[in-house]
Amino acid sequence: LRGGETRVGVENMFGLMDRFLKSDPSSLQKDILDHVEYTVARSRFSFDDFEAYQALAHSVRDRLIERWHDTQLHFKKKDPKRIYFLSMEFLMGRSLSNSAINLGIRDQYADALKELGFEFEVLAEQEGDAALGNGGLARLSACQMDSLATMDYPAWGYGLRYQYGLFRQVILDGYQHEQPDYWLNFGNPWEIERVHVTYPVKFYGTVEDENFNGGKRKVWLPGETVEAVAYDNPIPGHGTRNTITLRLWAAKPSDQIDMESYNTGDYINAVVNRQRAETISSVLFPDDRSYQGKELRLKQQYFFVSASLQDIIRRFKDSHSNFDDFHEKVALQLNDTHPSLAIAEVMRVLVDEEHLDWNRAWDIVCKIFSFTTHTVLPEGLEKVPVDLLESLLPRHLQIIYDINFDYIEELKKKIGLDYDRLSRMSIVEDGAIKSIRMANLAIVCSHTVNGVSRVHSELLKTRVFKDFYELWPHKFDYKTNGVTQRRWIVVSNPSLSALISKWLGTEAWIRDVDLLAGLQEQAANADLHEEWRMVRKVNKMRLAEYIEAMSGVKVSVSAMFDVQIKRIHEYKRQLLNILGIVHRYDCIKNMEKSDRTKVVPRVCIIGGKAAPGYEIARKIIKLCNAVAEKINNDPDVGDLLKLVFIPDYNVSVAELVIPGADLSQHISTAGHEASGTGSMKFLMNGCLLLATEDGSTVEIIEEIGKDNMFLFGAKMHEVPALREKGPALKVPLQFARVVRMVRDGYFGFQDYFESLCDKVEGGNDFYLLGYDFQSYLEAQAAADKAFVDQEKWTRMSILSTAGSGRFSSDRTIEEYAEKTWGIEPCRCPF
Ligand code: PLP
Repeated sequence: LRGGETRVGVENMFGLMDRFLKSDPSSLQKDILDHVEYTVARSRFSFDDFEAYQALAHSVRDRLIERWHDTQLHFKKKDPKRIYFLSMEFLMGRSLSNSAINLGIRDQYADALKELGFEFEVLAEQEGDAALGNGGLARLSACQMDSLATMDYPAWGYGLRYQYGLFRQVILDGYQHEQPDYWLNFGNPWEIERVHVTYPVKFYGTVEDENFNGGKRKVWLPGETVEAVAYDNPIPGHGTRNTITLRLWAAKPSDQIDMESYNTGDYINAVVNRQRAETISSVLFPDDRSYQGKELRLKQQYFFVSASLQDIIRRFKDSHSNFDDFHEKVALQLNDTHPSLAIAEVMRVLVDEEHLDWNRAWDIVCKIFSFTTHTVLPEGLEKVPVDLLESLLPRHLQIIYDINFDYIEELKKKIGLDYDRLSRMSIVEDGAIKSIRMANLAIVCSHTVNGVSRVHSELLKTRVFKDFYELWPHKFDYKTNGVTQRRWIVVSNPSLSALISKWLGTEAWIRDVDLLAGLQEQAANADLHEEWRMVRKVNKMRLAEYIEAMSGVKVSVSAMFDVQIKRIHEYKRQLLNILGIVHRYDCIKNMEKSDRTKVVPRVCIIGGKAAPGYEIARKIIKLCNAVAEKINNDPDVGDLLKLVFIPDYNVSVAELVIPGADLSQHISTAGHEASGTGSMKFLMNGCLLLATEDGSTVEIIEEIGKDNMFLFGAKMHEVPALREKGPALKVPLQFARVVRMVRDGYFGFQDYFESLCDKVEGGNDFYLLGYDFQSYLEAQAAADKAFVDQEKWTRMSILSTAGSGRFSSDRTIEEYAEKTWGIEPCRCPF
């Protein structure tokens, strides 16, 4: 009955809406049981929690698909300008609760399941995380997809469907071990395999000149072809029918591979070679800051860029006969430099395959690309060795050289023959290893270069991309990152969500997060305080249960839960946190027993993964566990201090930990965190921040005020001069003492920790742990003092949530849509 455009016409089709799947409890029950029987192939009289989860997921998916089809049809009919968000990483986490909530049918499902003898929350726990990304950048992509859908923007996300997501972290004897995350083992109901949406992606080979229209043209004769197959993940908006697509590509062997071997009878080798193609999308690189010069990485980048562009251009050509309107219909967003080969690829397709004149193609390229950089340090910028590019993508290297030639000629006219500057600004870097600077390519060819917070943007203009800013000030802008309140309050903290709706008298804040500011008026209300504390206590109990189940450590919920969860990095300074804990422990041990009653009990929680090859980060994890072992088994300290390392930090762990945190630490050395988004999630959940003035924290301070957080540390502008001082930099005695405790083997593993201690002493303290230690301890003392006054603490907590509205990804996306992409909402009619 649900005819497509051809049979009943789009308008009529919307008239048939009452034929959509019903969502009353008995229809839902029937649906779930049907999926148990026909999809999961279990008897409806005997199935376990996991099978119930699978059936439930398929039932939600059916409803997603309906909306998704309607949205795509609507976009097709309206043909609006679309934003294509290209990202190598999407950290989506689980989908069930988020989808059911965004579809507005979570409670109906919960009721339906209850009668069948199942709990919605318990089934939701059965789902594994989709961890196709490393950290902040990847979770940002996921939050932005949610906002794009909710705000009705005609958007597509494009990425890679890695078979192995980010490694699972297992802690054995306190050390990190990595285990592969084969997340597809038990199937993935949230994706739809599109066997008919496949594109060939070419690699290697040679470029030849061919006669064409009386002139010459370049023809790329590839040496290998791999097939890209689309897997679509529908992303539902909240309070709208709009459901957009995250299209992830998987590599499959192409029929074009190695026909030679088949023909010569080497059947076995031909098949084995075919399987090799699949490795392209098999594994996510587990480093979150640098990816230098790896062939597989470059192959992944081009694979996803090429497939995505073939798809985008095919969609455009479906309804346009030439490229005149391309820039009016297509906006391409580069999430960091990782997809920037897209620039050369668009040029190649337009010039070599669509036979546009070079200048016309260049004109189009300059209008469609925007680039967001997440980098702070020039050393972190991605470079691709020319040799590698030449062998893998010979035609692209030629195109990049041609772009660079024209650009440098133009540049000479503008800045003269300043060879130093010309060489700094060139896309091609000469040197021991001749390389392509991907950031320079992205900047030259994009109409906008965005930073991810205001201070980050300043750093870009004054340091990292200073030369470019001076040339093209109009290109540089910033959009402070944000996170979605749907996932980070509504899904992860349902009791706080209900409380907010009750006190605001509306649920409208879920789509219009500025309304949270309404809580400010109630920040001193005693009734709200009581309810607020109750919600927080229940969340802490949930977290305490998890901690005990995971580590065997019993913690008291009346203690302050002090959390630092994020990737382990020297600049994020987990080591400062651990040394602060050692100091606290040392103080308690050396205190008169009678004074111990004054100590504010703490549960310190640290979690995060270290990149497998990052030795210092691995040692920080081991130190945390060694210190925890000592403290948690010291009866002298008891409940006054506990330390737990939460293994395998991921989105689901974050959803559990963040609502239960009282205090959270964002303590990077000033000038090193481009934005930081973890802090925003804690803020939304009424957690107080202990932070340095770095990245987006600077803007958080403006929203909620210095008095409502605990700030410390050297300021960004002070850092270079402090570093200059080297060994002459004064550090407090307490710092020397705690480092000595570690050095002397107080926590064991003396030899293993030696290099860690060396990193922060004797003039090597690049991240200024020693210099900042005193003010860090003072900020911690201020947090203790505030915690004792629960009324004050609760008011600060309410004001944190009330002031978090600006840090919603809805605001970020609106700014991108208006100022960078030039797109309008395109809402699917109800
Ligand atoms: N990893 C995960 C799983 C997250 O949810 C977040 C939150 O934004 C991050 C990493 C980034 O955290 P931060 O911005 O604190 O480094």
